[in-house]
Amino acid sequence: MTAVTNPATEPASQDWLLEPVLAPTVTGDVLAPYYEAAARGELAMPFCSRCDLALELEQRVCDGCGGTESQWRTVEVAGTVHAATLMHRREPGLVRAKEPYPVVDVELRSGHRIVMTTVHPSASAPPVGASVRIGFRRLGDVVLPAVESVEVSQ
Ligand SMILES: [Zn+2]
Repeated sequence: MTAVTNPATEPASQDWLLEPVLAPTVTGDVLAPYYEAAARGELAMPFCSRCDLALELEQRVCDGCGGTESQWRTVEVAGTVHAATLMHRREPGLVRAKEPYPVVDVELRSGHRIVMTTVHPSASAPPVGASVRIGFRRLGDVVLPAVESVEVSQ
């Protein structure tokens, strides 16, 4: 077997966690701008068109002003761990990982919150409050944001 090292910006050709059958449908999806940005190596998140408040990925009505229009913008690929857990899941045919894996709720610098796993397998969940950098993992034909690195402040 040959080990292939991928540069940090280039997602591995096969995901370490899930089988490609679990890749989300991207075309025509309400989250299409999110996936299109990820494919370019960028993180795009929705903001309220009227008051600029950070919206949840699938949020339709703004909590701040009641506006229903959103605008997708590229945001910084950095944030902090809001919550994290270690998922114990065995599901042959869907989940490739044999060991527990981290699921991390990240609060982005933009104010958004998104739940993701890590770019690389990890046997532990990052500590709450740790700074994280977002990278990308490839699942089938879809590129997904994931925690690339964790920095724990002393
Ligand atoms: Zn608003």
